[in-house]
Amino acid sequence: MPELPEVETVRTVLAPYLVGQTVQKVTVNLPKVIANQTPAQFCQNMTGQTIKNFTRRGKFLTIHLHSGARVVLHLRMTGTLTIEKAETPYTKHTHVVLTLLNRQELRFVDSRGFGRWWYFAPDTPDTSGAERLGPEPQAITLAYLQQTIGQRRTALKTLLLDQHIIAGIGNIYADEICFRAGIRPTRQGNSLTSAELQALQTQIVAVITEFIQFHHVPFSVYAQSKGTSYQNDANLRVYGRAGKPCQKCGQPLIGTRIGQRSSVYCAHCQK
Ligand SMILES: [Zn+2]
Repeated sequence: MPELPEVETVRTVLAPYLVGQTVQKVTVNLPKVIANQTPAQFCQNMTGQTIKNFTRRGKFLTIHLHSGARVVLHLRMTGTLTIEKAETPYTKHTHVVLTLLNRQELRFVDSRGFGRWWYFAPDTPDTSGAERLGPEPQAITLAYLQQTIGQRRTALKTLLLDQHIIAGIGNIYADEICFRAGIRPTRQGNSLTSAELQALQTQIVAVITEFIQFHHVPFSVYAQSKGTSYQNDANLRVYGRAGKPCQKCGQPLIGTRIGQRSSVYCAHCQK
């Protein structure tokens, strides 16, 4: 599932292909993907609009239009965005297509169909959920963690996944951050010492920054992978490695569930 670093890859790779382009035609093949309008309204609103910018906030992407309207989208579990020539046949599960005046298309493909798009007219508020996000991970300070996670009796893992506290962290990077900070994901937020909260702050910034860099790929690699070039990342130390030896101490990593989410940690290296 794409998390902040993967969504940032989508943004950086596709922005040069979208900014400045005009939408000639819109095709919606799966109506429920358009969350707050009918497909017909969405198509009418988007057609003829020129793209001014393409930005990210947490795991949400926003296409800003010159008119002041915005299209907010969330890839959820399996959503991908690619640029294809208009004559290229659709692959299965191609749900939304923006045909641009240059005969290229932005295509949204989503096998599970949970991804969503919202259209907001100029000067109307964002109701996608992006408006209620906490700060970006790279802006997190120790004082902020003391006021939020440090006050809560909930498991650290659950707090890291709460998009209202920190935007963009999902199951993968929550496990990686806990491992690198040396803290068990099962610990209650208010049990963390100042030193542990400091380690957590350092690793939240470091892990997200590093993976944004790891995932930086040229368009050709991104296109060949159909927008999933970030998968199977060799740089992950704990996620998906339950039962395998810890890369620090060699003991087998523990797989468990916290708040219904699979979690992996090292009982020896994480206190
Ligand atoms: Zn270990």
